[in-house]
Amino acid sequence: EQEVAEYRNTLAIRVSGFDVPRPVKTFEDCGFSAQLMGAITKQGYENPTPIQRQAFPIVLSGRDIIGIAKTGSGKTAAFVLPMIVHIMDQPELQKEEGPIGVICAPTRELAHQIYLEAKKFAKPYGLRVSAVYGGMSKLEQFKELKAGCEIVVATPGRLIDMIKMKAVNMSRGTCLVLDEADRMFDLGFEPQIRSIVGQIRPDRQTLLFSATMPYKVEKLAREILSDPVRVTVGEVGM
Ligand code: ADP
Ligand code: MG
Repeated sequence: EQEVAEYRNTLAIRVSGFDVPRPVKTFEDCGFSAQLMGAITKQGYENPTPIQRQAFPIVLSGRDIIGIAKTGSGKTAAFVLPMIVHIMDQPELQKEEGPIGVICAPTRELAHQIYLEAKKFAKPYGLRVSAVYGGMSKLEQFKELKAGCEIVVATPGRLIDMIKMKAVNMSRGTCLVLDEADRMFDLGFEPQIRSIVGQIRPDRQTLLFSATMPYKVEKLAREILSDPVRVTVGEVGM
């Protein structure tokens, strides 16, 4: 335990919560499959970043997480890789319809970046990633969602439009990511986020990432996450 505390210190990681899994040092420590390791190597990622070292074991164990780390620290892979493992663990993957992983981001640009990153890691498994944000016609998006996907990356407003149009069945969603939660609040998406959360199973895993943690984000996190582990890397503003 002393050793774990020192290791976290050297990475500027602080954790709180019940029974926090210990951080990993390498991608291999996560038990990722050869296929996923291949995709990681292809990306040129040699070692996990600090937020990834602590987030991987937490998310892989099925726990909810509040991850706070500055921009550029590798938060996308911190949730995308365990999400893919979670999806591949589903026993009846081919039998049902609807996304298992749902990722919300505040802007089209951010959602698009996540979409590209998710696709790279989903590809070796043949998992389908759908992008749901402005820029594509609603009809095109409707058709794409109707064709089926395992992961959806969305801005909140457009995802709600698609749910209303019955383009997408959210009942299979078991892993919800709220990325850049502070910015989603700044842009006024709190009602949309609450509506999306209400559509996804209560026994879901919820992952919330943010660069800062203002009180209103903290309050939402307390309402929609269960027994989360909180991970902070470096210094973080309110
Ligand atoms: P954040 O969401 O925290 O702002 P990103 O997930 O966008 O950060 O990652 C920032 C950059 O770091 C991206 O170009 C990404 O490909 C790269 N990256 C992520 N993880 C690693 C890693 N383990 N090793 C090297 N580069 C990485
Ligand atoms: Mg990010």
